[in-house]
Amino acid sequence: MTLGELENVVKSGGMPRFVARQIADWIYAKRVCTFAEMVNISKKNQQWLADNYVVGRQEAVRRSKSQDGTVKFLFDVGDGCKVESVMIPDKDRATLCVSSQSGCKMNCYFCATGKLGFKSNLTSAQIMNQILSMPHRRNTAEKTGDGELTNIVFMGMGEPLDNLTEVLKSIEILTSPWGLGWSPKRITVSTVGKLPQLKDLLDRTSVHVAVSVHTADIAQRESMMPAQKAFPIQSVMKLLKTYDFSGQRRLSLEYIMWRGVNDDVAHANMLIKLIGDLDCRVNLIRFHRVPGVELAPASDDRMQMFRNILNEHGITATIRASRGEDIEAACGMLAAKK
Ligand code: SF4
Repeated sequence: MTLGELENVVKSGGMPRFVARQIADWIYAKRVCTFAEMVNISKKNQQWLADNYVVGRQEAVRRSKSQDGTVKFLFDVGDGCKVESVMIPDKDRATLCVSSQSGCKMNCYFCATGKLGFKSNLTSAQIMNQILSMPHRRNTAEKTGDGELTNIVFMGMGEPLDNLTEVLKSIEILTSPWGLGWSPKRITVSTVGKLPQLKDLLDRTSVHVAVSVHTADIAQRESMMPAQKAFPIQSVMKLLKTYDFSGQRRLSLEYIMWRGVNDDVAHANMLIKLIGDLDCRVNLIRFHRVPGVELAPASDDRMQMFRNILNEHGITATIRASRGEDIEAACGMLAAKK
């Protein structure tokens, strides 16, 4: 819950408003898992809270660890629905890739989650549960321990902007001083470019944004990403060009590379044209094979050639390292299989 929601809770229990801040402090800073541990709240109020609300965490029902240290967690979110989160440790940082939905409506051809269809939207509690189950630090100045969480990417199962209300609540909890107190610069939300929700996200937060482009050939994008019909990438780019990404806020364009599909010079030029003068970086992503999908990953040579063309045109482009492929935790592979 956000502070505003907690204030409504304490009001309905006849408690003074400041108790909401005390509860937030116990849950998000001190991370207690029972009302009985909230010792500055009266016994009577603790009991009322316990009678009416649930506090605590639901542990992952399954963990799988990759040879490269990536860990995938399977959470049961009720009604037979499961979601996955992926912890990706890397030198002095550890990024958690969180899910915002069980399944996904967007049905991108190349994605294992899309093949599941849509099951449910996660509540902010179910999103926060994925995060609070992990070790964390309150700010970047603090030292991190092994595997301690430093960054969050909304790139797990689901389209975050298709569940914007709950995702915004989670971001509020993560970034507020009464919550986890994180800088929004530690959070990235990834989207196919759902409009008008993308504008809402850009206006109401200052988190980083990653837009899944994957091909600038419009007919090809429409055939692989049905969302192109409803939310054309041309309109998304037009919107993005009205925001300033030259400072602290980062815009990334995601581009999965498939052999013989979108990995040639013509596609690089189409992407350059689409980007125009937009301040962004391009992440070139290796494709991870998904059962039933007739696509192959682009070769390393092609990926490097593609990156070089973009770089020569003044666009920062990097090839993203694959992580967790052996446990089906890499990009596009999350399907919550038991
Ligand atoms: S790539 Fe993202 S938006 Fe597309 S189906 Fe998969 S989870 Fe949904």
